[in-house]
Amino acid sequence: MRNGPLSVLSKESQRTAGDEARTMNISAARAVAETVRTTLGPRGMDKMLVDSSGNVVVTNDGVTLLEEMDITHPAANLVIEVSQTQEEEVGDGTTSAVILAGELLSVAEDLIEQGIHPSSIVAGYQEAVTTAKTALDELAIEIDPDDTETLEAIAATAMTGKGAERSKELLAELVVEAVTTAVREDGTVDRDAIDVRSFPGRSVEDSRFISGTLVDKKPPHPSMPTSFTDANVLVYEDDLELSELEIGAGATITDVEQADAFADRDREELESVVDRIVDSGADVVLVDGGIDDFAQQRFVDAGVLALRRVSDDHRRRVAGATGAARVGNLERLTSDDLGHAGRVEREMIRELTHKGNARAEQTTVFDDLPESEIGTILLRGGTEHVVDEIERAIEDSIGVVSAAIEDGSVLPGAGAPEAELALAVREAAGGIGGREQLAVEAFAEALEAGPRTLAENSGHDAIDALVELTASHDGGDRTAGLDPDTGSPFDALEAGVVEPLRVKRTALESAVDAASMILRIDDVVAAGELSTAGDDDGAGPGAGAGPMGM
Ligand code: ADP
Ligand code: MG
Repeated sequence: MRNGPLSVLSKESQRTAGDEARTMNISAARAVAETVRTTLGPRGMDKMLVDSSGNVVVTNDGVTLLEEMDITHPAANLVIEVSQTQEEEVGDGTTSAVILAGELLSVAEDLIEQGIHPSSIVAGYQEAVTTAKTALDELAIEIDPDDTETLEAIAATAMTGKGAERSKELLAELVVEAVTTAVREDGTVDRDAIDVRSFPGRSVEDSRFISGTLVDKKPPHPSMPTSFTDANVLVYEDDLELSELEIGAGATITDVEQADAFADRDREELESVVDRIVDSGADVVLVDGGIDDFAQQRFVDAGVLALRRVSDDHRRRVAGATGAARVGNLERLTSDDLGHAGRVEREMIRELTHKGNARAEQTTVFDDLPESEIGTILLRGGTEHVVDEIERAIEDSIGVVSAAIEDGSVLPGAGAPEAELALAVREAAGGIGGREQLAVEAFAEALEAGPRTLAENSGHDAIDALVELTASHDGGDRTAGLDPDTGSPFDALEAGVVEPLRVKRTALESAVDAASMILRIDDVVAAGELSTAGDDDGAGPGAGAGPMGM
C-alpha cells in the first residue's frame, strides 16, 4: 500500500494508483481494440473462438467476439461495454466503435508521456466530439422511409465482409421486406415483430421472407389436415387432456365403480370442450398443453388441425398476427375470439437443434395474415456455424435498416465520415490553443484509425490511402470513401456503401465516454487479485486471440 498512512482496505484487496494504474488500464483497453482490429471492413478476417467445453464460434462480429472471449480486466470491460451499447442502440458498428475507443486511448497515452494531464485531454476530447457531431450531422443525407433502393444498400453494407456477403443482394431484400412490414404508425420499428429463424441445409439462396410466422409443431395425429386457405384460428391457453386420477397421492381408490364414474364424467366434459371448439368454426387450434387421443380423433373427424404443446411465444405471435384472442375459458367462446390466416400450411424443414444435429422437422407456416405487421426471415444455408454467422449479419442488417427508417438520416460509409470529421476537428483545433489543442488534434488522428484500418485490412498502404482520402475531402469531396479494391478514394454513396447516421453518432459518443472514463481513473482498488484474460488459463480461448495479458 503506497498511499496514505492509514489503510482502510482489507489485506486481500489490491491497489494500483497513479500512472501505473492509468498505464495498466490503457493497455488493457487498447488490447481489446487490437483484438477486433483485423475483422473490420469488407476484407476483414474472421476469428474462431473455442470455449472450455469445445464449442466453436466463427465470427467477424465485434460484439460477439468480445462477449465470447471471456475478458475479465475491468478497464477492458469498459471498452467491451462500448460494443454492447452500440449493439443495443443500432446493432452494427461494434468493431468501429471499439477501434475508436482504443485509438483515443492510444493517442492519449502519447500525450500523457509528453506531460499533458489527463484532465486536459478529456477536456480536449469533449470539445472535439462536439465539433465532430456537428460535422456528422452536416454530412448526413435525408432519406425517405420508402426508398427501398437505399434501404437495401444500407442492409447490404452491414453484411459486407461477413458470411452473408455472397448472397447479400437476396438477403438485403429480405431484411428490407421484414423491417418495412414491422414499421409502426408512428414510424418506429417493432423489432419484436421480426423473427429470424435459421435452418441449416440447402443454400442461402433458398432463404425467404414470410409475412407471417412459424410454429414448429407437427400435427399430433397423421390424419389431421395440414393445409388451409382462409383458416379460422383458435389459440387455447389450456390443455385438452383427461385429468389424471391421482392414485397414490393420499387417496386410495377402493370403489372401482366410483373411479369409473369419475372417469366417464371427465371424458364427457372433455368431449363437450372439444365439441365447443369444433362448433366455433375453428380450423386450426393451438393448444398450450397436450391433446388426448380421443380428442385428436374428434379433430380428425371434423377436419381440424390441432397442435399441442405450442410455446407461449408462438401462441403470442400467432394470436397477434391473426387477431385471435387467447382463450382460457371456452364457456363464452364465440367466433369473435377466432383469428384468421389466409394460409396455414405444414412444411418440411430442417430445424436447428442446439447441439448441431439437424433433424428433419416439420413446421406450420401461418401466412397471408390480416394484421401483417409481423414477419419471419427463414434463413437457410450450409452448416450450423455458417447459418449462425449469417444470422448475426442479418441481425446487424435489421438494426441498420430500422435505424435508417426511424431517423431518416444516412451517411456515406467506407471511412468517408471519419475522414470528413477528422478534417473538421483539425480545423477547429487551430482556434483553441494550449494543451487542449493537442488533445483535439489527437482526436482527429484517432478518427483516422477507421479508414487506416480499412486500408490495412484490404491490403493497401495505410498512409498512402489516408493521404489520398484526406486530399479528396479537403477538395470538397465529402462522400469520398476508401475503395477496398484499389485503396484509392471512390464515391461511397455511388458504390452503395451507406450507413445510418445513428451508427456513427452512437459510436462517437460511447467511444469518447469510455475513453474519458478510463483516462480519469488514477486509482484501481480491486477486492481480489486483478485478473487479466488468459492469465488463469494459458490455453483458454482468450489467450491466443489477442495480447490481453499485460
Ligand atoms: P462494424 O462492426 O464496425 O460494423 P464491419 O466489419 O462491419 O465493422 O466494418 C464496417 C466498416 O466497413 C464501415 O466503415 C463500413 O462503411 C465499411 N464498409 C462496408 N462495406 C464496404 C464496402 N463495400 N466498401 C468499403 N467499405 C465498406
Ligand atoms: Mg458492420
